[in-house]
Amino acid sequence: MNIVVIGGGLAAANAAGELREQGHTGDIVVVGGEPHPPYERPPLSKGLLLGSSEPDEAQVHPREWYDEHQVDLREGTVATAIDLDRRRVQLSSGELPYDRLLLATGATPRHLPMADGSGAPVLHLRTLDDALALRERLSEGARIAIIGAGWIGLEVASAARQRGASVTVLESAPLPLQRVLGDEIATVFADLHRAHGVDLRLGVRVAGVENEHGEAVVHVEGADPVVADLLVVAVGVSPTDELAARAGLAVDNGILVDAWLRTPDPHVFAAGDVANHDHPTLGTHVRVEHWDTAIHHGRHAARVMLGSDEPYTRLPYFFTDQYDLGMEYVGHGAGYDDLVVRGDLAAREASVLWLREDRVIAGMHLNDWDAIGPLRAVVGQPATEAVRDPAVPLGDLM
Ligand SMILES: Cc1cc2nc3c(=O)[nH]c(=O)nc-3n(C[C@H](O)[C@H](O)[C@H](O)COP(=O)(O)OP(=O)(O)OC[C@H]3O[C@@H](n4cnc5c(N)ncnc54)[C@H](O)[C@@H]3O)c2cc1C
Repeated sequence: MNIVVIGGGLAAANAAGELREQGHTGDIVVVGGEPHPPYERPPLSKGLLLGSSEPDEAQVHPREWYDEHQVDLREGTVATAIDLDRRRVQLSSGELPYDRLLLATGATPRHLPMADGSGAPVLHLRTLDDALALRERLSEGARIAIIGAGWIGLEVASAARQRGASVTVLESAPLPLQRVLGDEIATVFADLHRAHGVDLRLGVRVAGVENEHGEAVVHVEGADPVVADLLVVAVGVSPTDELAARAGLAVDNGILVDAWLRTPDPHVFAAGDVANHDHPTLGTHVRVEHWDTAIHHGRHAARVMLGSDEPYTRLPYFFTDQYDLGMEYVGHGAGYDDLVVRGDLAAREASVLWLREDRVIAGMHLNDWDAIGPLRAVVGQPATEAVRDPAVPLGDLM
């Protein structure tokens, strides 16, 4: 059986690894648009920007692994079309037949036309090349403006401050990460950045961007403009699903897949940031833009392509590192109606449970690394009295 994987990222590399681990002996071709072997992106906004890690350390497998495992890795090759009837992928160079096709094309940063068209120094952060370009600019005293206080915007702010840059973050919402975390926990992140000297301007609207003598001038409605040596636009990503849509696959905020990561075409599957997955435990479609999902989706899709009939039930998980704050989150806290905090939020040593309709729907810890096991165990369980009582240690809930 001949398997083609489009997208040379984390999901793709993990799928290839799992196919070989499961004993698949047929052809595997991984078509990756970037001129690098698959790599992990989390270090791009953390260690790589700080200078404490280098690109080679981020590789999913060492370069030689692909030859050793007879995985035909086509770096710098773009898949331009899929013919579902003939089961062929059109490449920037040639054509590939497949018996099974995995789409792991990831996500693409959203752009702001007003910034792109300004001629000002503007960067987005998605690829290794973006990160290396950004690292060059994060010097002592550099003025960095960031539009967007999501995970990427805040991690860039953290790295930039640690490199001695002055940082202004512009965010239209009243709090950073408010939609994901809710007011109380979002405030922890606002306080964290302000305590580290970030000029965090919330509830603001960017009206335009101009280039003045090589500087970015960011106009803000009703306030003075922000002048920066570099503007980082970090306003989220969109799933890279155009290829699938053009082929006639169902696409709605990503490629729609069932609980097994299958598209309606029995030969085609999707995994990672691009997959909008019908999650059996959460009872809803979710498209998760996180590292852990890319890894486990990739591996799971590999097993399903080889005939497994297990649905993908793993809960979404993610982590962030900002300054001296480490955080891990598991579950899906959207639409929560109650919150239970154990520990001290102000000291940033705590665990939090999000509840909805008497169930625990998500959990998180701040700098409490032993908590992730109990959090995983309790998410999805009923919100008993013990769960709701902050005096009951988290470990006792398992
Ligand atoms: C800077 C940064 C920091 C992050 N930090 C964290 C973190 O701390 N914690 C966390 O949980 N998650 C983090 N993430 C998210 C995590 O990295 C992603 O969820 C993960 O990389 C998704 O993997 P993927 O394989 O689905 O997609 P991607 O990694 O985006 O890989 C997709 C690949 O497919 C290629 N491609 C697309 N279309 C085609 C085509 N037509 N032909 C060929 N190739 C194509 C793309 O060029 C890309 O290389 C971070 C992401 C970024 C950008």
